[in-house]
Amino acid sequence: MRQASELALSDAKTQGESVVFFDASLHQHAGLEGPLARALQRGEFELHFQPLVDVVERRVVCAEALLRWNSPEYGLQMPRTFIPSLERSDAIVEVGAWVLREACRAAALWGGVRVAVNLSARQFASRDLRSVVLGALRDSGLPPACLELEITESLMMQSPERAARLLAAFQEDGVRVVLDDFGTGYSSLGYLARFPLSGLKIDRSFVSAMEEKPDGHDVAIVRAMVGLSRDMGLELVAEGVETLGQVKLLESLGVRIMQGYYFARPSAQWRPMNVPGDQ
Ligand code: C2E
Ligand code: MG
Ligand code: MG
Repeated sequence: MRQASELALSDAKTQGESVVFFDASLHQHAGLEGPLARALQRGEFELHFQPLVDVVERRVVCAEALLRWNSPEYGLQMPRTFIPSLERSDAIVEVGAWVLREACRAAALWGGVRVAVNLSARQFASRDLRSVVLGALRDSGLPPACLELEITESLMMQSPERAARLLAAFQEDGVRVVLDDFGTGYSSLGYLARFPLSGLKIDRSFVSAMEEKPDGHDVAIVRAMVGLSRDMGLELVAEGVETLGQVKLLESLGVRIMQGYYFARPSAQWRPMNVPGDQ
């Protein structure tokens, strides 16, 4: 009970909610803290990349870096099993910095294809985020316009004033910031006008629900997102695209950039084809 309430308390702190209930399913990996703390030094983290495809121009415009933990004890672990543990310790900041450096280093060889990196709440709140980002760009030689930072609505809402300043700074640096899982958080639409964003990623829950009911509310929401992003000059991406039916439906609604298993699963080996200068 005590351990559970302590975990709930630390969740409440990181999520910025006033009341948080203990969720056992989130803590089934509560024993991972020790091995996780050593994972970075031991080189057990790796990045998998998943492309974002412009279906009109038929080319890859970006690839998202997705973190994996290759644990000798537990095998290959997905983010949902270990990111909550990293988030509770400060380790996520250091691991996040590693992700940024590795992603930039990889993308520097991609001939203009952008790389997208997910930011965690703590990382976004850390003071030196901007210098870590600029350092990763400088060391890799990747042009700032080729880096995209993915943040969520809830992360932005934790400290809207600070978020607005940080986003303005990134805009000045030429680094893109996009809103991930759009439509699932608690943000007010008014923030879209105030925050300098480069794009929106439609959450995959809308994409999967859409196909089941092609004249239902989810299609109406996606259609509204298409109009909103077009009028605001934001790039729109649909994530979690798994079937040709979804591709056709999204395309008919005016979504042209898509990501999902239909095109490619995340992979450690992924890199763009036909990179200039490549053999
Ligand atoms: P996300 O940023 O929304 O990433 C998309 C997730 O959807 C990935 O799961 C990806 O593998 C999965 N996905 C892609 N296409 C499809 C599809 O067609 N169908 C389905 N069902 N799923 C698809 P993954 O890799 O398990 O990552 C989960 C979440 O973990 C990410 O969600 C992101 O929030 C977080 N994450 C991943 N890497 C990092 C990282 O380096 N740092 C931080 N802070 N968070 C990360
Ligand atoms: Mg993402
Ligand atoms: Mg997402």
